[in-house]
Amino acid sequence: MPSWFGKHSMSEERHVPGPPSELADTLNHWRDLFQRKHSEDFEALIGLTGMEDPIFSFLVDYADIDQDDLLSLRFNEYPEETIEQANEVLRSMCAEYTDVRCVLRPIYFPDEKIKTVSSLRMRNRGELVSLIVKIQDVGPRVGYLKKALYTCIACGHREEIAQRVARERKRPRGPCRICLEEAEQMLGGQVSYSLYKSLESLMQLTAEGSFYQDIQYLNVHDATETGKQPIQIILDDEYVDRHKPGQTIRINGVVYIDPIPDRNFVKDTRRILQVRALSIEEVS
Ligand SMILES: [Zn+2]
Repeated sequence: MPSWFGKHSMSEERHVPGPPSELADTLNHWRDLFQRKHSEDFEALIGLTGMEDPIFSFLVDYADIDQDDLLSLRFNEYPEETIEQANEVLRSMCAEYTDVRCVLRPIYFPDEKIKTVSSLRMRNRGELVSLIVKIQDVGPRVGYLKKALYTCIACGHREEIAQRVARERKRPRGPCRICLEEAEQMLGGQVSYSLYKSLESLMQLTAEGSFYQDIQYLNVHDATETGKQPIQIILDDEYVDRHKPGQTIRINGVVYIDPIPDRNFVKDTRRILQVRALSIEEVS
C-alpha cells in the first residue's frame, strides 16, 4: 500500500478511500486537470529552488474541480484526503522541474459555500465552507508531526503513519510485518503474545524522515456581524506568519471539531468547532 494512501485508526477517522480503482481514477483526474489548466505553473517552477522558496502555492480554481464530476464528488466528501492525493500527484509532476514543495490551494469557492461563524454547528463537521472574517489575534508558529516515520530496529522495515493535529501520536498497527512473518515461519504458526508484544516494540519513531509541518492558529470573527462570536482557524505552510490582527480575509476550509484546549483530562467529551484553512484570500 503506498504511504500516501493513509493508515488511519478506525475509531476517529471517517475517511473512506474507496476501492483502489477509484483512488487511481482520482489521481488521474488531478493529473489531467493540472496538465490542462496549469502549464504556466509548471513553467514558473523552472529554476526555483527549495532553498529560496520552500513552498509553491498551486492555486486551483474551485470551478475547475467542480467541472470534473469525480473530483467534485471526492473533494466535497473528503476534502483533505482528496487534496493530499492532489499534492501527491503534484509532487511527482513537479519533481522534474524543482525540489520546491507544491501545495494545492483551492480558491474562489462559490458563494453558496459562504457561511457565518455563528451559523456553524457540530453537524457541519467535514463540510467545505467559506468564511469572510476579521482576524482578532494570531497565535505563535508551531510545528506538528504530520507524518511519523517508524523504523524496525531489527530489520530496517519502515512505515509512515499520518498524524493529526492535537491528538495523541499514532503508532503503526501491530508489529513489524517482516519480522512477524519471519517469526511465524520459523515457529510454523502463530507467535505467543509476549513475542508479539516484543516484535511490536521493534517499530520505533525515527526523527529524521518524520515530517513536521508549520501551523498557526488564528482567532477570527465574522467581518460583518456585530455579535462577534470567535472561531479558531488552523492554517499551515506558506500562510504561517502572514497575517495580522485587524485584517479581513476569506478562509476556504473544512469544519473540524476538536477537544477543547487546556483540557485537563484526556477523555473530556467537550468539543469546539474549528476551521482548517485549505486556502486564504486577502480581502483587505
Ligand atoms: Zn522488522
